[in-house]
Amino acid sequence: MIATKDNETISTSGILTQMSQLEHEQIVFCNDNATGLKSIIAIHNTVLGPALGGTRVWAYKSETDALRDVLRLSRGMTYKSAISGINLGGGKAVIIADPKTSKGEAFWRRYGKFVNSLGGKYITAEDVGTSPGDMVHIATETKFVAGKPSYLGGTGDPSPVTAYGVFLGIKASVKELTGSDDLTGKKVAVQGVGHVGMYLVEHLVKHGALVYVCDINQQNLKMVSDQFKVEVISPDAIYDTDAEIYAPCALGATINDGTLARLKCAIIAGAANNQLEDEVKHGQDLLDKGIIYAPDFLINAGGVINCYTEVIGVGRDMAVGLTENIYEKTLDIFKTAKAENITTQKAAMLLAQQRIDAISKLKAVL
Ligand code: NAD
Repeated sequence: MIATKDNETISTSGILTQMSQLEHEQIVFCNDNATGLKSIIAIHNTVLGPALGGTRVWAYKSETDALRDVLRLSRGMTYKSAISGINLGGGKAVIIADPKTSKGEAFWRRYGKFVNSLGGKYITAEDVGTSPGDMVHIATETKFVAGKPSYLGGTGDPSPVTAYGVFLGIKASVKELTGSDDLTGKKVAVQGVGHVGMYLVEHLVKHGALVYVCDINQQNLKMVSDQFKVEVISPDAIYDTDAEIYAPCALGATINDGTLARLKCAIIAGAANNQLEDEVKHGQDLLDKGIIYAPDFLINAGGVINCYTEVIGVGRDMAVGLTENIYEKTLDIFKTAKAENITTQKAAMLLAQQRIDAISKLKAVL
């Protein structure tokens, strides 16, 4: 469940009603019978710039689930770019399909044509289920795509930069808890060792953390446990570990009534988008339980920052520099939340919204 700025609960009926409650600008439904493509592109807000957000391929159980996901994800991108200080709006796309099956050139080029038809209002990139190779096919049809390989002038997979930002968010959270950001001997449970999780494990192990990992993909699990000293646990056991830090790096909504009753951690800081199933209730539950929560859209912004530097044509050095700001920003959010006795999620959203409001007024007088 998500809520409006005024904490109203979002209705599940009527697409336009949902758009209005969450303040989306535009939703585009795309269908192509020849390739089997079924996609929804959601443009949440373009005040700060074009709506950039990756394309997620997932075998959604229903079209309603796909719509709900794209509405939540695109809104998250608005806040993510705003709080990161980059000039991008928020958008996202979902494709309803099995991420494990190969899609082929025609599928991705048809999708690229749909993206192109929006004239740059939406810029796509990778997300769960898509790769730089898919971006190559999309780029044949549109220039509005980031995360391309370097031979196409792109910056490639944004995941290492995302993982670096998440690592810094974890360090800031540990500093908030203990007064020092030293990770030596700290137990971290990483849920999902895909593109981001794997790089995150590398940072954590290098800095002396004791890392538990789980994944439903045995190949990814093997790749990580072959390379790094980690303890493999089952996907369900992750919520019962004695780790001080829980790092969700798989899918969203893993912080919910069921898991909150089990989690023993002192910190939650990870890469997954929309970690709180209900951002108001579960944000408050974390505050009440004294669990430090590093807002997902703040600490996982490295990827969109990386895409932004690609869009404006500067190198990865700037992406790394901007990502390094995540450490101080996370500490600032903890401070504000404490001072105002609000959740860290709320504090981060308010900060992002302030920037959007300020810039929207600036544009109005141009
Ligand atoms: P990915 O698909 O490469 O990795 C996700 C991993 O999680 C996979 O290995 C998958 O098998 C595993 N997984 C799925 N369900 C699981 C479960 N129930 N228990 C344990 N493991 C499970 O995706 P990614 O690019 O690493 O992204 C991870 C998360 O971070 C996603 O939520 C994504 O939206 C978010 N994110 C990614 C980036 C990026 O740069 N890639 C940027 C911002 C946010």
